[in-house]
Formats: sequence, C-alpha cells, structure tokens
Amino acid sequence: MDYKDLAELIFPNAKDISYYEEKYPERNLPEGAIVTRFAPSPTGFVHIGGLYQALVARESAKKTGGVFFLRVEDTDQKREVENGVTGIVNSLKDFEMAPDEGMISDTEEIGNYGPYKQSLRKEIYESYAKYLLAQGKAYPCFCTPEDDEERKQKQEAAGVRPGYYGSWSKCRNLTVEEAAERIKNGENYIVRFKSPGRDDRKIKHKDVIKGNVEFPEHDQDIVIIKADGLPTYHFAHAIDDHLMRTTHVIRSDEWLSSVPLHLQLFHELGFKAPKYAHISPIMKNDNGNKRKLSKRKDPEAAVSYYKEQGIPADAVKEYLMNIANSTFENWRRANPKTPMDEFEFSLNKMSVSGALFDMVKLLDIGKTVISKMTASEVYDGALEWAKEYDEELVKMLEDKEYALKVFGIERDNSNKPRKDIAKWSDVKDNIIYMYEAPSSYDFDKITGDDAKKVIEEYLKVYDENDDKYTWFSKIKDTAEKCGYAREVKEYKQEPEKWPGHVGDISTVIRVAITGRRNTPDLYEIMGVLGKEEVVIRLENAIK
Ligand code: GLU
Repeated sequence: MDYKDLAELIFPNAKDISYYEEKYPERNLPEGAIVTRFAPSPTGFVHIGGLYQALVARESAKKTGGVFFLRVEDTDQKREVENGVTGIVNSLKDFEMAPDEGMISDTEEIGNYGPYKQSLRKEIYESYAKYLLAQGKAYPCFCTPEDDEERKQKQEAAGVRPGYYGSWSKCRNLTVEEAAERIKNGENYIVRFKSPGRDDRKIKHKDVIKGNVEFPEHDQDIVIIKADGLPTYHFAHAIDDHLMRTTHVIRSDEWLSSVPLHLQLFHELGFKAPKYAHISPIMKNDNGNKRKLSKRKDPEAAVSYYKEQGIPADAVKEYLMNIANSTFENWRRANPKTPMDEFEFSLNKMSVSGALFDMVKLLDIGKTVISKMTASEVYDGALEWAKEYDEELVKMLEDKEYALKVFGIERDNSNKPRKDIAKWSDVKDNIIYMYEAPSSYDFDKITGDDAKKVIEEYLKVYDENDDKYTWFSKIKDTAEKCGYAREVKEYKQEPEKWPGHVGDISTVIRVAITGRRNTPDLYEIMGVLGKEEVVIRLENAIK
C-alpha cells in the first residue's frame, strides 16, 4: 500500500485536479490587470474595515482593467449568522460597489469561476487534499481532543512552542498501512498538511503594502480538512485564489503572519503564489489610546450605521479613499467636481500603519458631497432615507414643489452653495423653520420693546416684490428709523454713536421669521415662505 492508495481510501470519489485546472483556466486579461476579491465570512455585520478592504480591492481591479469578485467564506459554520450573506451583498450594493463576479444574493452568483461560496466547493477541496495525500504531503490525523490537551501540557512543561509540528506531530509518521487500518476501523480523523518548513530558517517576502517582511519558516502541520469535511481558511484560500486566478490577495493585516504558511501551501500544491497586500486596520482614538474600531464598542464600526445616519455612500467612499491614499485629498481639492472614480488610486501608495477614524472629517466630506448636489438630488436623497428612517420628514417632503424651493435656497444658482447638511438625518432640523413658525425667540442684542419696534417698523415697509437690493435697503431704513447705524462700516468707525448696526436689525428680523440667528440667505427664505407667511410670522413675533 502506498500514499496513493491511502488517498483513494480517504477520498474515493474525488476528481483528478486536472479537471478543475482545465475548468478554471487562466484569465484572458490585459497585462497588469489585477484580479482580486472581497472574501468575508458571514459571521456578523459588515465592518467599516471590511468595506474599506472591498473599496481598495475594487479600485485596484477597476484601475487595471481587472476583476473584483465577492467570495463568501463560510467554512466556519458554527459562527455563521442568519442573513449573513444577504447583509454582505446588500452592503456592497448600498455603496454601489457590486462585484464583477461572485455572490449577488444569498443563493445566486455570476461569473465562470464559481461556486463563490466555499461551502459549495467541498468536492474541489477534496480533490486537492487527495492530490496532496497521494504525494505524502498530507496525512490523516487521529488525535483526539485529549491527545491535543496532553500535547499542549507537555509543550508548556517543556517550555517549547505550542502546536502540531516536528516530533510533536504524532500522526505524521504513522505508516500508510496503520493509517488505513484505523480508517477502516471507523476511527475519526482530520487531514493535516505535512509542512516541509523548518523554524530555524527564515523566509523573506515582499508585501505590496507592508514592503519587505521576514518570518521564520512555517513548520506546523496545520489542519486542511476539518472533522466536518470542510477546509480550514488557509487551505481554502490557497485552492480558491489559485482556481479563481486571483493575482492579488488584498486583505486585513491580521493575516500577514500567515503568509509563510500560505506561500508554503501554494508551493506544495504546485501553484503560482499571488501577490499579497495587507491592509492596516482603521483605528480609533480612545482617550489617547489608539485601538482598532471595535464591533462591540463602536457603533460606527458597522457599515449599517452610515446608512441609518444617512451619510451619503459617496461621502463614506471618499472618506475611505482619503485614508487609502493620502494623495486623494490634494487631488480632490484640485478637482472638486470630478467623479471620484477618476482618481488614480494606487495600491502601492497605501500607508503601512492604521489610519485614525475621524468622524468630523467624514461629516465634513458629507457636507461637501451634499453641497454639490442639485436641489432635486438633495430632495431624492433625503426622501429615500426618510422613507426608511423618518416618517415625519416624509410628510414634510410631500409637497415636492415647495421642498425643491426650500432645498434650492443658496444652492442651484449659487456659486458658493450652502454647506450645512452633512447627512440626511440633519435635513429635518435644517429645514424645519420653512415648515413651522418659531415658537420662541432669542434676538441676541436687541430685546423686548426695542425688538418689537424693529419688527413693527419693518412690517410697514416690507414688500414681497422687492428685489434683493431694495429689500436690503429697507432693512437699512429700518435700522436708521430705530436709531441704529445703516452700515456696519459706519458703526465700526464711531461705535459710541449707535446702540448697534444694521446687522443687529437683520438678526431681529431673521429670528422673528425663522427662530434662528444663523440661516441661509434671508431674502431667499422670505421669498420661498411667501408674503402671507412672512407677515403672519412677523406679527406673531410682535405679540
Ligand atoms: N474570510 C477571511 C476574513 O474575513 C478572509 C480573509 C481574506 O481576504 O483572505 O478575514
């Protein structure tokens, strides 16, 4: 009996690997095209760090005429959550980052290199496990949990590295006959990789992002096929990224230390290894301490948070691009109107260490993104969000014609559009005074009867047909009437001459109409509210 017979005994029905090698040929793509993937496990919500990886992967593929695919890594079925795959697929859709290939729903996929869900690839893994077994590069292991425990304790007592390696690999040296015998007797087993590595040797590797790294060789006989018949992450990674013809493995840097193992697996399987690009995690400043954004502690770690808050997908993507390539910020400044897709993203220019997550900056980008939208786009964005999260806002937006006028204030015809909405959940508060008269007033400098007098005087001259120039000169007239300086300049030269200036007067009128001291252009606001409403509000304020 030889290795081949043992392989046959373990996987009698597995196909020869040549079948898969032919079925999934090299891709016919232009030179330099990056084929890469987002390969999440459906074990919980999509993390912003996952979205970041996906964005980097997708941009890398897009910029090189390559392929970006979505592979679901569901080999750890105990950790799988309900709707995990749907959550992943929908998150990518929400951010307009649907893959070129791979899963497009819980059950459907597109592309010629599938299945793209690992649990559906069991027979493929078996073929390659059989292939290794037949060469004596893998072996069945019969160790029980008790055996493992015993080994651990002995290793601890001896003060050596834990794990299944070297002389600690109890089943490595079983004869083929012995192994076959135990299998025939119905003993449980898993399949382990027979590592050719030696811990006292080093391997050098060049990561696309991290640069040169050096590690001890990998020497552990890791499990490749588990007791449930499914592969471990490491084995599935090698098989899948080979057969899917991945050129670049772009993933979180928690996997960097697995590179020695992965290169060894590729080598022993006879595959050409892909390039690796390990991305640093997004960090958070927690009272002066830098730590990873945590699923448990930070609501902003979940991608769903941004949707709930109504932060536009484009703003989130721009923000992530900022983190990915520090050159993006200058590019954006020089090209404020260019679609983000035209930015020359480069994988090589990614930073080696983790960027700090900065919500203030993200919201600022949100403001810029929304400021570039037309009133109609703002309307659509706000309404779409409101339909899911804010019924009251949906009602407010029912009169579309009016809402468009409201959103049009200092927007469509303005060369310096208003920049006061960072996210859709800001909208209601931002426009509420266009729907409801104020119920309280804080006039700032001018109070009581003085404020009343200002409003009374203004009401006498207010005419909704005035152009902006006339409108403003009437506010100046009112200032003069009430004993205030007509011009701010005038006032500044001789401040002792007046109790205040025209600005204080317009504040009173602004507060009387909107209840706020800061609003976009008051002339436009009054125009949209219309004469009747303006008069009612001014009279109310007097009362
Ligand atoms: N399923 C792995 C994870 O979510 C994928 C890592 C990879 O991209 O290879 O961490």
